[in-house]
Amino acid sequence: MTKGSKAIVVGAGIGGLAAAAALSQHMSDVLVIDRDILLHDNAARLGVGQGAHTHQLLKAGELALERLLPGITDNFVAAGAVQMTVGRDVKVYDFGGWMDDCDAGFTVTSLSRPAYEGVLRRRVVALENVRFHSETPVRRFVVEDGHCTGVQLEDGAILAADLVVDSTGLTAPLLHQLQEEGHAEFPTEEIRINVAYTTGRFRRPEKWRDDQIGYFVLPSPPDTHFGLMLPIEDGQWILSLGARGGAVPPRDLQAFKEYAKGLVEPHVYERIKDAEVVGELRTFRKPTATRHRIWEATKWPQRLIPIGDAMSSVNPTYGQGMTVAACEADALETLLAGQTPLDDLVKAYLAIAGEISGRAWSLSTNSDYVYPETEGERPANFAMSRALAATLRKLADEDMEFRHLRYRLVHMLETADALRSGPLAVRFFTALQGSMAS
Ligand SMILES: Cc1cc2nc3c(=O)[nH]c(=O)nc-3n(C[C@H](O)[C@H](O)[C@H](O)COP(=O)(O)OP(=O)(O)OC[C@H]3O[C@@H](n4cnc5c(N)ncnc54)[C@H](O)[C@@H]3O)c2cc1C
Repeated sequence: MTKGSKAIVVGAGIGGLAAAAALSQHMSDVLVIDRDILLHDNAARLGVGQGAHTHQLLKAGELALERLLPGITDNFVAAGAVQMTVGRDVKVYDFGGWMDDCDAGFTVTSLSRPAYEGVLRRRVVALENVRFHSETPVRRFVVEDGHCTGVQLEDGAILAADLVVDSTGLTAPLLHQLQEEGHAEFPTEEIRINVAYTTGRFRRPEKWRDDQIGYFVLPSPPDTHFGLMLPIEDGQWILSLGARGGAVPPRDLQAFKEYAKGLVEPHVYERIKDAEVVGELRTFRKPTATRHRIWEATKWPQRLIPIGDAMSSVNPTYGQGMTVAACEADALETLLAGQTPLDDLVKAYLAIAGEISGRAWSLSTNSDYVYPETEGERPANFAMSRALAATLRKLADEDMEFRHLRYRLVHMLETADALRSGPLAVRFFTALQGSMAS
C-alpha cells in the first residue's frame, strides 16, 4: 500500500471500474469521477451509448476481473448470467462455414453490458477506500513539470492526486486537451471500418426458455451483413444485426426481422421471428477503429495512466474491448504489487498495455481489411496475416487441438506465439506452406 496516496479515475465504465479495483489494493484513497448519472440498477446509461448492444466478455477478461475482484464470476451468475461452454454453446460462422462443435475447455458468462457494469460497480462501491462522484464532468488533466497532479472539473474546482487514470472511453476528450495544451505528443492510427449495429432484446418464447445457445454469424465478403445473438439475463436474447460500408440495419421491428432472415443461416431468424421485443431497437455507428499509440509517445505526463477505449478502440464485432480494459487494469495491479515506483509506473504500464491492445488490434483489423468496405491501404503483411488466419481456421476444422487453440486465441488466453513456437508450431507452418504453395 502506497500509504497516504490518492488516485483519481476519470470515467466509471468497465475500464475505470476495473482500474479502481486495481488501485484500491495499493492506494489509500481512490476517487472515481463520471459525468453521467450512475444508476443503481442495470439500466443502460447515456454516457455509454454502446451499452445497449451485444457485449461478449471474453475469457481473458473474465479471469482478469476475477483476479481483481475474487468471486465476481459468481456475482455475474447470480445476476442472471447464462454460463456457456465455448465451442459448444456459442456457434460461430466464419470463413464461409460453421465451426464444428467442441468443448474448448472453458466457459464464459453472458449478460447485457449494463448488467456487467452494474455488478462490477456494486463490487467497487463496496470497497472501503473507493468513493464515487457522479454527474461530475472533468474538463482537463492538470499537468505541472511533466507530471499529472490531478484534474480540473467543469465547475473549475481542482482535485489533486498522486496518480490519475484516463478511462473516458472512445471519444477520449481529455487526450485532445493534453495535446492542445502541449503536454502530450503521440501518433494516432485510424482505420475507417464503417460498421453499424442495430440491436434488440427479445423475451425467449416458452419453447426456447432453456436455450443456452448463442450465434456469431460473420459471413465473408461480398456479404456485409452480420449477426451476434446471445442469451442474457431475465430470460432474454440480445441480438445485434450489423452492416458494413455505411449501411445501417433497420430499426423498424418487421424490417429488422427480415434483415435477420437475410443472414446466411436461419437459426437466428427462427428464434426471434415470433419473440416479443423488449424496449426499443437501438442503433450505433462505429466509423473508425482508433488507437492512440501512447506507448510510442515523445511526450506524456508522468503518473497519468490511459486505459481501455480511451487508448485503443477496435471494431466491436470481435468482442475484445471490455477484455482489453480488464487485462490492462490487471497489469496495473501487478505492477503496483511489484512495488513499481509511481514515477516509473507509466512507462512500465504502457509497454504492457500497448502489447495487450495491440493483440486485439491485429486480430480485429486483419479481419476488417478483408472487406472492401474498410477504407485505407492494407499493411504490407496483410496477405501473410490472412494466410495465417485461414490456415488456422482450416486446421481447426480438421483437428481438435487446433480448434481449441483457435478459441483460446480468440478469447485472448494465448498469444500468436502459441502458433510460432508452441507444440503445434511445426504442424501449423507445414500446413501454412502447403496452403501458400497450392
Ligand atoms: C456497438 C458496440 C458493441 C460492443 N461489443 C463489445 C463486446 O461484445 N465485447 C467487448 O468486450 N466490448 C465490446 N464493445 C467495446 C466496449 O463497449 C468498450 O471497449 C468498453 O466499454 C470500454 O470501456 P471503457 O471503460 O474504456 O469506456 P466506457 O465504458 O465507454 O466508459 C467511459 C466513461 O467515461 C465517462 N466520461 C467520458 N468523458 C468524461 C469526462 N470528461 N468526465 C467524466 N466522465 C467522463 C463516460 O460517462 C463513461 O462512463 C462494444 C462497443 C460497441 C460500440
